Amino acid sequence: MRSIAQSAVEKRADILAMRALLISDIHANLEALEAVLAAAPEHDVVWNLGDVVGYGANPNEVIEETRRLGNVFVRGNHDRVCSGLGGIEEFNPVAQRAARWTECVLTGEHRDWLRHMAVGPIAPDGPFVRCVHGSPVDEDEYVLTVRDAWPALEATDARITFFGHTHVQGGFATNGDEWFRLSPQYAGHRLHGGYHGEHGAHTEADEFEVQLREGARYLLNPGSVGQPRDGDWRAAFAVYDDARMTVTWYRVPYDVKEAQERIVQAGLPDRLAARLRDGR
Ligand code: ZN
Repeated sequence: MRSIAQSAVEKRADILAMRALLISDIHANLEALEAVLAAAPEHDVVWNLGDVVGYGANPNEVIEETRRLGNVFVRGNHDRVCSGLGGIEEFNPVAQRAARWTECVLTGEHRDWLRHMAVGPIAPDGPFVRCVHGSPVDEDEYVLTVRDAWPALEATDARITFFGHTHVQGGFATNGDEWFRLSPQYAGHRLHGGYHGEHGAHTEADEFEVQLREGARYLLNPGSVGQPRDGDWRAAFAVYDDARMTVTWYRVPYDVKEAQERIVQAGLPDRLAARLRDGR
């Protein structure tokens, strides 16, 4: 009896199982994107939370590569600004220089594609899930604290909202009464921080799985592929498994030196190269 029941469950899981690869804030970093795609486990769909371009040196190549992965995209603020749709005055001088450079080098087709990206929230998998860039309220809003997360979750009835924009892997959960901050706990991460050379600490891939609970609601950030700012230089992404109700966060090393050299060679601000190594 037990084995029949079990196989029925497995069969059901087989029919319903859907694994989404979540990527966000690639920021024209081709080396980081390639490392993520090489390391990503099997998945059925790719959901992209925006900021495909801006800061990095390979906007055209990154647009081509990500478009090959599927068609679920949410526009990011850099996608908007770099395609001339406005808001550059809100950027700091370094981001402004990068946005102007990006707009100059983009092909006409790619600029046009950026201009037509969907503005979030979008619902790629039925009523339970939303994808946004900043928050459900505003693509430019940073959700960094529980105080930011509360109004963001109030604004949506989705159980899970995937967001980007902060470049910080992790998120927030609430059971209605209490709030929790979620962040992946990788061995050695807190101790070692940024880049420590090819043979130093922090050069391996890591993963951390979270079991999502019935009745709780979540705001979850896969982290930034191309410009992490959580003190970990490795490229970040996540996988959502809707049959097992899990989200797994990943970090993978990539050729950060190559990405830095391309930024310098392109004449982009040095600061954009330096920060990749620090993960800040
Ligand atoms: Zn971004």
